[in-house]
Amino acid sequence: MQVISIYWCRKDFRLDDNPALFNCLKESREEDTLFLPLFILEDYMTKGDPINQYSYTSRVLLSKILPKFADNFTEFSVINGKISQVLTKLSKHYNVKVYVNDDVHPDFYKQIKKIKENGLNIKVYQDSLAVDKETKTITGNYYSIFTPFKKNILAKFIDTKIILKSNPDSKINYLSKNAIEKIFNKKDLVKNTEKDILKEFKDTRLIKVGKNTIDLDGIIARPELNHVYTNEKEVLDIFKKYIKNDGLINYKDKRDFLKNTNSNMAIALAWGLISAGILMREIKNHHADLNHLGVQTYISELIWREFYKYILYHNSTVLNEEFQKKYRNKIEWRENKEAVKFFKLWVQGKTGYDIVDASMLELAKTGQMHNRSRMIVASILTKNLGIDWRWGQEYFRSILADLDDASNNGGWQWSASVGSDPKPIRIFNPYTQADNYDTDREYRNKWLDKDYKLEAIIEHKQARQEALIRYGLLNNKHKDHNQHHLFSD
Ligand SMILES: Cc1cc2nc3c(=O)[nH]c(=O)nc-3n(C[C@H](O)[C@H](O)[C@H](O)COP(=O)(O)OP(=O)(O)OC[C@H]3O[C@@H](n4cnc5c(N)ncnc54)[C@H](O)[C@@H]3O)c2cc1C
Repeated sequence: MQVISIYWCRKDFRLDDNPALFNCLKESREEDTLFLPLFILEDYMTKGDPINQYSYTSRVLLSKILPKFADNFTEFSVINGKISQVLTKLSKHYNVKVYVNDDVHPDFYKQIKKIKENGLNIKVYQDSLAVDKETKTITGNYYSIFTPFKKNILAKFIDTKIILKSNPDSKINYLSKNAIEKIFNKKDLVKNTEKDILKEFKDTRLIKVGKNTIDLDGIIARPELNHVYTNEKEVLDIFKKYIKNDGLINYKDKRDFLKNTNSNMAIALAWGLISAGILMREIKNHHADLNHLGVQTYISELIWREFYKYILYHNSTVLNEEFQKKYRNKIEWRENKEAVKFFKLWVQGKTGYDIVDASMLELAKTGQMHNRSRMIVASILTKNLGIDWRWGQEYFRSILADLDDASNNGGWQWSASVGSDPKPIRIFNPYTQADNYDTDREYRNKWLDKDYKLEAIIEHKQARQEALIRYGLLNNKHKDHNQHHLFSD
C-alpha cells in the first residue's frame, strides 16, 4: 500500500513554527510519501447536542481562518466526521502516518487513545506549551503556584526554540482530490469556503448553566466579528507594529487602563496564528534589554498562559471543579431561579454597576474584553451576585474570540478565589475599579447608552457582606471577620 503523511490541522493555522506540519512535510519529502493536509469538522463541533457544538464566535472565526490557511496548500481537505473514523477509512486504502500538535484539553487525549487503539500510526508534537509540560519542583511534584513555576521556566521560555517555517509548495507530492473523493461520501467532503463551512453548524446560540438552558439569541444580539484578524502575516505585522510603537516598553504602566488596547495577541495565540516562541523571537529581535520592566511584565503574562495550560494538563477536572479541594461543594451559590435572573442581567449588561455593564456590552458586541474588565465582571458575578463561576466560564466559552479553555478556566477560578495559586479572597469594589482604570469615563461612555441609568441589583456593601458569609469569612450570627483571608480592592 502507498504511504500517506497526514497533517491533522487543529487550532494551529500557521506555517511558521508549526512542529507537526514541518515534520510531516519533511518526512513526506524524505520518504516520498503522499501528503494530505486535513481539517476534521468533528461531530462534536457540528452535529451533536446544539448546546455543546462550537460557539457562534468560534464557528464564524473558523469559517474565516480555515479557508485562508488552506490557500497555502495545493490541496487541503475539510471532512465531516470523527477523526478516528476518518483515519480508519483512509487506512483501508493507504498506509497512514498522522502528524498532530498537542493540546492540553482532556478530550484531545481521549481522541489520541482511540486512534492508537485502532492501530494507527500517530506522532504528537508538543506545541501547546513552549516549555516542557513535565516540568517539576525539586521535590518532584508538579507546580500549583505561579511564581516558582515562572522562576523555573523563565530562562527556557525566553530561549524557546523555533521550528523553521514550513513550505507546502507544489514540489511536494499531494494526495489528489480524486483519490479522496473515491473514499468519502460527497456529503462528508466540505467545500473550503466561509459559506460552506458555516452551513455545517446548527445556527443556534444555546448555553447550559447549572440545570438551565439559555438561548442567548433571546437576550442579546450576536457579536460583530469582522474586525478580527484571520491570517498569520497580518498578526505578525500587528505585533511588530505594537513593539515599534513602544507597546512593550509601556506595558507595565498602561496595561490595566481600560482605554488601552494591549497587544491583542490572545486571539492569534488561541487560533494558532502565531506561537509563543515567535512572539519571543520578535521581542528578542527588537529589545536587547530584556530586563526592562515593561518587557518583563509582558513576558510574565505570556507565562501565565503557559501556567494555566500546565495546570489544566495536569489537573483535567478543573474545567468542572475547584482546584482547591477545600472549596469543592462548599460554597452555597445563589438559589437557582434568582441566579438565572441575575445571570441574564449580567450577560445583558444590566447589573446597574456601570463599569460591569460597559464591559459586558463590549463583550457582547465584539467577542472581546479587556483583561481588567474580565477580572471585574468575574468578581462581580461570583462575589456580588453569588453566582457559580462555572456559569461565567460557560458564557465566556460561548462568546470569546480568544477562547482558550485553560486561560478561561484559570481566570474564572482566580476570580472566584478557588483556583491554583491561592491568594487572599478578593472582592472587587466596582466603583473604585472604575475610578482607577476608567478615570475619564472614556470606556464607559464608549459602551453604555447615552441615557444609561440603572440601580445596582444589589447594593455593593450588602453584596460584599453576603459574599463574606458565602465564603465562610464572616459568621452570619456574630459578624466577626476573618480579616486574615480577605483582600478588598
Ligand atoms: C475571567 C477571565 C477569563 C479569561 N479568558 C481568557 C481566554 O479564554 N483566553 C485568553 O487568551 N485569555 C483569557 N484571559 C486572560 C486575559 O484576559 C487575556 O489573555 C487578555 O485580555 C488578552 O488581551 P491581549 O492579547 O491584548 O493581552 P496582553 O495584555 O497584550 O498580553 C499578552 C498575552 O499574554 C497572555 N495573557 C495576558 N494576561 C493573561 C492572563 N491573565 N492569563 C493568561 N494569559 C494571559 C495572553 O496570551 C495575551 O495575549 C481571561 C482572564 C480572565 C480574568
